Amino acid sequence: MNNRAGLRGHSHSGLFVPKCASMTPDRLERFARHIILPEVGGAGQARLVDSHIVLVGLGGIGSPALQYLAGAGIGRFTLIDDDVVEASNLQRQTIYTTADVGLPKAEAAAQWLTGFDGEIDFNAQVTRITRSNAATLIAGADLVLDGCDNFATRLAVSDACVAAGIPLTSAALGRFQGQVANFAGHREGHACYRCFVGDAFDAEDCDSCADQGVLGAMVGMVGAFGAMAATRVLLEGVSTLGDPQWGQLHVLDGLKPSMRSMRIVKDPECGGCGQAG
Ligand SMILES: [Zn+2]
Repeated sequence: MNNRAGLRGHSHSGLFVPKCASMTPDRLERFARHIILPEVGGAGQARLVDSHIVLVGLGGIGSPALQYLAGAGIGRFTLIDDDVVEASNLQRQTIYTTADVGLPKAEAAAQWLTGFDGEIDFNAQVTRITRSNAATLIAGADLVLDGCDNFATRLAVSDACVAAGIPLTSAALGRFQGQVANFAGHREGHACYRCFVGDAFDAEDCDSCADQGVLGAMVGMVGAFGAMAATRVLLEGVSTLGDPQWGQLHVLDGLKPSMRSMRIVKDPECGGCGQAG
């Protein structure tokens, strides 16, 4: 409350308004808590508004990621998922309600987005992203956030990102372990997702939530962490939060709980990025 009044009369307002010149007063108010945050600022918010994110997978990770990234004012989303909402999804896939059961997730997610903020553009794709369509689906994006449930798709998405020169935020979950990392395999010296997992999984599905069970709040942590990682990428070169920590894998242990981080080294023989770097 105080911040809202403070923003209007704040002596810093002259600093951020020029950078946010394209934003209306309503939008400035909506994103005020970002704009007054020194690590984001007016320039950072303007960058977020100008950004286009492709979300691969609109399940347990994609739901909170979409909520926080839409909240951050990302200007455009491509929403990709070929599944339909099932009753067993509602325990963790936070954008869906009982009324969405049976609807394609990409369409239900677009409905959620429209209700949340009608000024955000979107392109809903009820399709599975594959090697053959990935390049088309991610073209023009500033970032791809992959929260899908299988390695084959993740590798196809990673290879397409490297080829197109698009950064990839990867967020994954196995029971109580979350893994989140930003990849820029198209850049010299930086690893891609394939450098991390190798080639063995191209044709295999990983263990699914249906087989293993999954705790809703744990997926939410990983999805929100993924949104945070994506935000760091988008703000690179714009504000101080913009340190993408490329190739730094953050491993969240939800049981202890704890987090450790490790660096993924670029594999010179990598089939995805070996020749790009
Ligand atoms: Zn690689």
